[in-house]
Amino acid sequence: THPDYTAHYSREATRAPEALDAFWMPFSANRQFKSAPRLMASASGMFYRTVDGREVLDGTGGLWCCNAGHARPRIVQAVQQQIATLDFAPTFQMGHPLPFTLAERLSAIAPGHLNHVFFTNSGSESVDTALKIALAYHRARGEGQRTRLIGREKGYHGVGFGGISVGGLPNNRKFFGSLLPGVDHLRHTLDLQRNAFSRGLPEHGAELADDLERLVLLHDASTIAAVIVEPVAGSAGVVLPPKGYLKRLREICDKHGILLIFDEVITGFGRVGKAFAAQRFDVMPDMITTAKGLTNGCVPMGAVFVSDAIHDAFMHGPGNMIELFHGYTYSGHPLACAAALATLDTYAEEGLFEQAITLEERWADAIHGLRDLPNVIDIRNIGLIGAIELAPRPGAPGTRAYDVFTRCFHEENLLIRVTGDVIALSPPLILTEAHIDRIFRTLAHVIAETA
Ligand code: PLP
Repeated sequence: THPDYTAHYSREATRAPEALDAFWMPFSANRQFKSAPRLMASASGMFYRTVDGREVLDGTGGLWCCNAGHARPRIVQAVQQQIATLDFAPTFQMGHPLPFTLAERLSAIAPGHLNHVFFTNSGSESVDTALKIALAYHRARGEGQRTRLIGREKGYHGVGFGGISVGGLPNNRKFFGSLLPGVDHLRHTLDLQRNAFSRGLPEHGAELADDLERLVLLHDASTIAAVIVEPVAGSAGVVLPPKGYLKRLREICDKHGILLIFDEVITGFGRVGKAFAAQRFDVMPDMITTAKGLTNGCVPMGAVFVSDAIHDAFMHGPGNMIELFHGYTYSGHPLACAAALATLDTYAEEGLFEQAITLEERWADAIHGLRDLPNVIDIRNIGLIGAIELAPRPGAPGTRAYDVFTRCFHEENLLIRVTGDVIALSPPLILTEAHIDRIFRTLAHVIAETA
């Protein structure tokens, strides 16, 4: 038998407060966290277990990634077997079978003509990869002057320089210099005046897609390479596309030869009731960026789905020429591929891509049941995504939602997520009606008591 390394390292980490100091935590208030750490020791299904032995209901699917729930035996076994069989093999001018199999499986569930897959290790890398492919594609077709990239206010596309440049969250941009040149932003679609408490997609705002026509007038279409949007923006606090918005964006892109990229890092793999949001909303992008649910979160991996037309534009010239000077040491890593294949099997066997539709009404009823609570100024939902926006405390924005979060975690054993004044929910798709009841019963009394 092997020593229990996990238990050993966990004890090391928690033996004294100073033991937490060396890890510079990402996107965290390090000093606040380290003064009252929330540490998970293990996870299974819908639950985490904390180092102090509490069972915590996971209302966030890890970080929008554990769509099939935690530590699913089939996925665990696939990764264990893979590491013992082939731990690593390069995919530069070399290969192993798994990424080929995986790409084929993925293209079979992807919408329409997105039949080619470029592997990365994260959502951020997927975004930067897609932006680079867009630029190189136009160049390959003799339109190298198409270099402008267009994102959207409140967009989150990871933390690479490409992603923060097209992204629209001020805190993710302002500390990091002048970013990529030649980037513009569409306006965001969050409108609490006209759309508060919409169930599903909001009625108003499709016309905001016409911002793209204005940018075309300003810059000329011949300079614009691509537009990237999240079909449902998560990190900004769940912003939904108004009815008709994405279709209109597609039409304008088509009219002007501009590529449309959907960043589906959070919406991919069943979150909104289809494999991809593109299918749910019936709008076909030219590329889709993914990560997270691809491996159920258990091994880092991302993937960019690319249309036949884009892929084929690169496949010219001498056959011994490298078509795209881009890739990561770990593109198509054996462990990630094994995890992804077992994850896809789990999704298919358990019908998890349909769960978010099956449970959508129940979920919507439950979350909208909170609308009359104090300080609740908006509720947004689609598939198994939910957001409750609280009025900011005067002079202290974000603190109200953070109070709800800490009480839920420490006193109610419920994990939710907060971004600013928004409580966001994205549970594993295996949740039951009983879990839905528990999540919203808990939130109702915590929101009432923190008023
Ligand atoms: N794009 C979107 C829409 C995301 O929500 C995220 C992460 O939450 C990313 C990109 C970045 O992914 P990662 O953190 O894996 O780099």
